Amino acid sequence: MASEKQAALATAPSDADAPTIFDKIINKEIPSNVVYEDDKVFAFRDINPQAPTHILIIPKVKDGLTGLSKAEKRHFEILGRLLYTAKLIAKQEGLDDGFRVVINDGPKGCQSVYHIHVHLLGGRQMNWPPG
Ligand code: IMP
Repeated sequence: MASEKQAALATAPSDADAPTIFDKIINKEIPSNVVYEDDKVFAFRDINPQAPTHILIIPKVKDGLTGLSKAEKRHFEILGRLLYTAKLIAKQEGLDDGFRVVINDGPKGCQSVYHIHVHLLGGRQMNWPPG
């Protein structure tokens, strides 16, 4: 499997508005390990975990929000919900000593799926700076 960096660099910006694998995950056309779902938000375990807990939190409706750099004022509520859901799931997962949330944006930010997502990582000591 290509590394995350290779996958990110292989995803052309022109692909950004196309449907992604996350649409199929939300629609349950392909299976995922779901940890949280409500009317607006869906969260599932990353297939290539970078920590003992690695969960992706995404909006069910993309509404043009392929990445954080595409955020508009109309996205205020969903952006808040994504972060608040990260906090809820961190509690649910028992990450009481700390955790990290990450949003990769664009090729240099190592984004490989153009449907905004918050990575929730925990269960080990994090390092700084990130790679
Ligand atoms: P990005 O690199 O920030 O865009 O993150 C995309 C994430 O999606 C990566 O961490 C991948 O491992 C993850 N991913 C890709 N396909 C799947 C899948 O089918 N199930 C769960 N996670 C996936």
